Amino acid sequence: MEKLSDKAQLRRDLLAARRALPADAKREADARIARRLSQWLADHQVKLLGGYLAMAGEPDLSALYAELPSRGIELLLPVVLEKQQPLVFVRWRPGDALARDASGTMAPSARGDYLQPDAVLAPCIGFTQENLRLGFGGGYFDRTLARSPRPASIGIAYQFGKASFAAEAHDVPLDVIITD
Ligand code: ADP
Ligand code: MG
Repeated sequence: MEKLSDKAQLRRDLLAARRALPADAKREADARIARRLSQWLADHQVKLLGGYLAMAGEPDLSALYAELPSRGIELLLPVVLEKQQPLVFVRWRPGDALARDASGTMAPSARGDYLQPDAVLAPCIGFTQENLRLGFGGGYFDRTLARSPRPASIGIAYQFGKASFAAEAHDVPLDVIITD
């Protein structure tokens, strides 16, 4: 039987594995993820997509974001207005102002025009067979997906992040996980 890992230890191990990924292998893996996400978007009705700006070795999907307007899809980015609250989503285009949000993550500076995304990309440090997401431990996606209306949720991960950990009561499984 597979050993259930402690979330904190798993985060450390998987973040180290991600940092060790050579740049050219990462570029190729990111391109494969982008192709699969592109196909998913072609198969689903999405007008407003909640994305993310890659940090800490996350898959970089910025090339795909650049194609979204021509496909009739607007990119939104998440903002933490207050800690311990769900994410809100703001329209963003390359060049629009960014600043650290209440969680310390770079996010759009714009405030006020909060939109409900049709689908959200949730970058995963790890994920399980049951589509549970291992994030940075802030619980922001869990809080966001616990709300109604709930957007479609797409975990974005490297395949080596597949792991096994026990779900906590607040962990919301994602609808789909796209990997390289
Ligand atoms: P992550 O999903 O980012 O890896 P965790 O699942 O470990 O992080 O959750 C981090 C914290 O967020 C937990 O302490 C949990 O109590 C809190 N949390 C998650 N979802 C909710 C929620 N719906 N309501 C209140 N707190 C939540
Ligand atoms: Mg969680």
